[in-house]
Amino acid sequence: MIQSTDIEAFRAALSGIALIRGDGDYDQARSAWNGEIDRYPAVIARCSDANDVAVAIGFARRRDLEISVRGGFHNTAGTAICDGGVMIDLSPLRQVEVDSAARRVRVGGGATLGDLDIATQAHGLAVPAGIVSHTGVGGLALGGGMGWLTPLYGLTADNLVSAEVVTADGRRLRAAADENQDLFWALRGGGGNFGVVTEFEFRLHPVGPVVHLGLFFWSLDQGTEALKLGRQVFATLPQNANAMIIGVNAPPAPFVPEQHQGTPGYALAVVGFGSAEEHAGVLAPIRAALPPLFEFVTPMPYTQLQQMFDEGTSWGVNCYEKALYLDELSDDAIVVITKHQADKTSPLSLLELYRLDAAYAEVGEDETAFGGKRSNRIGVFIVALTGDSQLLAAERAWVRTFWEALRPHAEGAGSYINAMVEIDEDRVRASYGPAKYERLARIKAEYDPDNVFHLNANIKPALQPT
Ligand SMILES: Cc1cc2nc3c(=O)[nH]c(=O)nc-3n(C[C@H](O)[C@H](O)[C@H](O)COP(=O)(O)OP(=O)(O)OC[C@H]3O[C@@H](n4cnc5c(N)ncnc54)[C@H](O)[C@@H]3O)c2cc1C
Repeated sequence: MIQSTDIEAFRAALSGIALIRGDGDYDQARSAWNGEIDRYPAVIARCSDANDVAVAIGFARRRDLEISVRGGFHNTAGTAICDGGVMIDLSPLRQVEVDSAARRVRVGGGATLGDLDIATQAHGLAVPAGIVSHTGVGGLALGGGMGWLTPLYGLTADNLVSAEVVTADGRRLRAAADENQDLFWALRGGGGNFGVVTEFEFRLHPVGPVVHLGLFFWSLDQGTEALKLGRQVFATLPQNANAMIIGVNAPPAPFVPEQHQGTPGYALAVVGFGSAEEHAGVLAPIRAALPPLFEFVTPMPYTQLQQMFDEGTSWGVNCYEKALYLDELSDDAIVVITKHQADKTSPLSLLELYRLDAAYAEVGEDETAFGGKRSNRIGVFIVALTGDSQLLAAERAWVRTFWEALRPHAEGAGSYINAMVEIDEDRVRASYGPAKYERLARIKAEYDPDNVFHLNANIKPALQPT
């Protein structure tokens, strides 16, 4: 139990605000992106700065309360929120400061990808990140961060230059290549295990501001040919383009002919970061190889590309997901995909295949803590989405069956830690591999020996020699 006098003292020590049950904003503040998450923290500490974060950690630790950390509140497992503990809510920390001359950006620990993209695109620059603008930079970057720009410029974590961190004992540290190097390494893929990042500094790259989209859509019964064509496109794209394969129902969008709206099938989205002519040259053979049900080819602002999936993944939707890596999109894997993709029942549910190669694979295996191996691969996400919690059970079963069937074709037993809903130690270990996990565990023991930050893809602190 927390006494009301404790709350008053806590409030007085914060420059932000503390919310408890019954406060006007409490229910909104505890509402995660995944509508399945329904938890009641004892206190939500809306932190305005690093000092607030340190105060909140101290308050929770003195009372032996759980601590969760909220960035963009997107994590499907709901690790950002806990029952009965203190939720450190970084949502006020959304500042973005661009230094276009130095090609660097400083971003608050609670910023969204949308905040980041809008500020950086004003200078024709971008940080490689994810594909939905309401995702948080915090969780995404700390776990890896993959999206349209990954084959061009690497993961979000690969572009981290420095971070301001509040550790479990309330210290404020800077982590960078020349300062607290072990912490800096661990933050690039090790998730939220090592402290609360109040500010990230990233490297920027010239992108857009206008890019070129080419979206082709085929029906389910054209799945085998569409996936084989997608595989060929993945392998032959020029360096300044990327593509994604999405198993999806055609949206009710103006560019979709009315008779195809809602039709389940496969989309191949190709994005060109060069000229319109180059892009047209990439699209022509795709169209010729397999005429689509419909297509949509258009220039668009990069910020709009980054919002393309926002509506289909709107806040409060019910979600369950599983992910794995494929070394290649083999014929056998395609057989599994086409069989199971046809079984989804919710029109919102998705299959996403991310291309992870080129710049992604040029980063050394041990350069960062990111778990996925740095060889060419495909990130596969099987995502159940429903607008009604009652309907999620069937879709959850679809995800599990699909994932189990695809597993024999997967590279290793690991997965992307940012897409784990059931987080167990074995899978976290498998995702990093034994050597990386042990290194992370030693760094965890140095910065968080009591495992204060354990509501995450948790790395257990290595046992200290006695
Ligand atoms: C609709 C949707 C689309 C997605 N698309 C992509 C994608 O394209 N690419 C991709 O790589 N991933 C994607 N993801 C997965 C995403 O990377 C994770 O959900 C990630 O956890 C989101 O970060 P967040 O800050 O929003 O999450 P939160 O739920 O706020 O936080 C998750 C965890 O991250 C840690 N954390 C967050 N911020 C901080 C911080 N500042 N300091 C310390 N720890 C922190 C905490 O441990 C916290 O429990 C997507 C997820 C969703 C739901």
